[in-house]
Amino acid sequence: MFAQSAFRSRCARWLSAIGILLLLGGCVEEPSTLERVQAEGVLRVITRNSPATYFQDRNGETGFEYELVKRLAADLGVELQIETADNLDQLFARLGEAKGPVLAAASLVASDGRRQIARFSQPYLQVTPQVVYRNGQLRPTRPQDLLGKRILVLKGSSHAEQLAALKIELPELKYEESAEVEVVDLLRMVDEGQIDLTLVDSNELAMNQVYFPNVRVAFDFGDTQGLGWAVAPGEDRSLLEAVDAFLARAQQNGSLKRLTERYYGHVDVLGYVGAYTFAKHLQQRLPLYEKHFREAARAQGVDWRLLAAMGYQESLWQPTATSKTGVRGLMMLTLRTAQAMGVSNRLDPKQSIDGGAKYIVRVKEQLPAGIAEPDRTWFALAAYNVGAGHLEDARKLTEAEGLDPNKWLDVQKILPRLAQKQWYSKTRYGYARGGEPVHFVRNIRRYYDILTWVTQPQLEGPQVAESSLHVPGVNKNPPREQLPPL
Ligand code: GLU
Repeated sequence: MFAQSAFRSRCARWLSAIGILLLLGGCVEEPSTLERVQAEGVLRVITRNSPATYFQDRNGETGFEYELVKRLAADLGVELQIETADNLDQLFARLGEAKGPVLAAASLVASDGRRQIARFSQPYLQVTPQVVYRNGQLRPTRPQDLLGKRILVLKGSSHAEQLAALKIELPELKYEESAEVEVVDLLRMVDEGQIDLTLVDSNELAMNQVYFPNVRVAFDFGDTQGLGWAVAPGEDRSLLEAVDAFLARAQQNGSLKRLTERYYGHVDVLGYVGAYTFAKHLQQRLPLYEKHFREAARAQGVDWRLLAAMGYQESLWQPTATSKTGVRGLMMLTLRTAQAMGVSNRLDPKQSIDGGAKYIVRVKEQLPAGIAEPDRTWFALAAYNVGAGHLEDARKLTEAEGLDPNKWLDVQKILPRLAQKQWYSKTRYGYARGGEPVHFVRNIRRYYDILTWVTQPQLEGPQVAESSLHVPGVNKNPPREQLPPL
């Protein structure tokens, strides 16, 4: 009896000693990367300053990577701190040297070479590397056609890595790398004939095609590759696991698709021909009317790029446009609207733009108070297109469906029903081509987005808001003081 309980108590002592050791062991164990981020309350992100990744517009910070990473930070319940690197080599160097966890989010291909110097998340976007040439030149169709051409790519890019691999097979291949340029510069250089070819990812080309009318895809340079976010190789996978879970949710709830569509979907929506055409009109037509858009916008307190986007949708920026239904001019005003807005000559572009600006503001003012921005702007555009009465009908049908009549996303689903008798017979204003305002708003939002990027200034500070239209070039980093330190 006694012996047994002595044995038991010896055992208990041993066990508790082991327990204490385990506990101590547990205490000295390093916190994981994710735990460190959470303990600091800050997610530090390093990115590039470019239209595809991160830039400032007059409303503040924006860009595909920025918007996605901002959602991740919110999801983790931490603050977001952004730092930009001047080029890809610097980005990976800083990632490796950083004290504390940093996430690289910069439209980065998770290439084999990079997997030696960084650990990547699951891919959030699939892209294809593409060889790009100038329209009118002989189209290269295979890697051998790169020989003898002036080729420039981003230094430290996945494309430089691919060309280095090709050079092993084709030692005569010559190409240059530059750390001083961004993707938009490469495309502009091809567009203007300063270089023969470049390599960019399909997402970047889709986004920028609308600025460069002469740029064309020669051929896909290899297989589809995944873009991922990365941490330094010394970090564990805990933050990346949180990223993977976040991305899986974003994929499931459609937010990743919406963001991708918004930033990279122009070519899908405009088509390649539409994208070239837009680029041409942007260079040739918009500069003639930009001043009027800005003046009208200032007078009415709206964004000039929204007015310009409306003008493009209405007339492709043609002041003498006329439709069979009797609407005329750059903003395609009806005679009644023109008269109500004090427009005496609809074919005068300045008058047309002023009238359109006044009208959209008036339409917006008359919308129900419960519709908040930015939806309010989309509703105003829809009312401008289909009429306030029909829009109100659609809102009622939306509500009857148990959806939110103050959300554009919900109402746009219902609007096409105004063209079906079973639905419009129940409404006050009856039949309408309800699908049209949906396209109208979608197109204008697209042009508006494009104009927002294209007017991204390389200038800094207060000049930013007033800068003129231009094709994006080398983006300077945003003013330092606006960025929290890394
Ligand atoms: N995605 C490229 C890279 O990972 C950067 C340039 C581009 O998107 O075309 O190196």
